[in-house]
Amino acid sequence: MAAIASFSLLRSFAATTARAFLTVKPPSTVSSACLLPLRSRRLQFNASATNNEEAAARESAANADSGAPTIFDKIIAKEIPSSIVYEDDKVLAFRDINPEAPVHVLVVPKFRDGLTQLGKSEARHGEILGQLLYAAKIVAEKEGILDGFRVVINSGPDACQSVYHLHLHVLGGRQMKWPPG
Ligand code: 5GP
Repeated sequence: MAAIASFSLLRSFAATTARAFLTVKPPSTVSSACLLPLRSRRLQFNASATNNEEAAARESAANADSGAPTIFDKIIAKEIPSSIVYEDDKVLAFRDINPEAPVHVLVVPKFRDGLTQLGKSEARHGEILGQLLYAAKIVAEKEGILDGFRVVINSGPDACQSVYHLHLHVLGGRQMKWPPG
């Protein structure tokens, strides 16, 4: 029931936040080396840079479910410093070390609970998924970008996900393009 309620919250949030976009495979908002369309419809791109990025993404994916602590676990445990923007008992939001926009904040669940990537989510994760999305809105508010921001989730190697601990990218502070590119 809680999961259903959270997904309803998630849906209505998406409907009312006209200028926030939730994109699962957004080539324009990850690093430029990661302009990686699906293999079945490849576009022009820098082959060597992309191949490196793709190889790194596939290597990360291969270890995704090992259960080993991720870099984000270490940030959550405060073993590695980060610039924290928002924190509660379930969620941590901190600035990306390699920002792709004037505002680039990562929102992560403190307890991974199998959520290495969105593609591994199950119905039982509905509540935390809703909390992460709402935390993204709080971050946007705190950063003064409520007039327009983008929420991105890279899920899996075809999306060049590099850290296998679910995270939302909150991007803003500049004009975003649509379609991404
Ligand atoms: P992904 O490619 O998995 O969607 O995004 C991972 C993000 O984590 C990248 O944007 C990358 O810059 C960021 N990142 C990787 N390592 C660190 C780190 O040690 N600290 C912070 N703040 N961000 C990191």
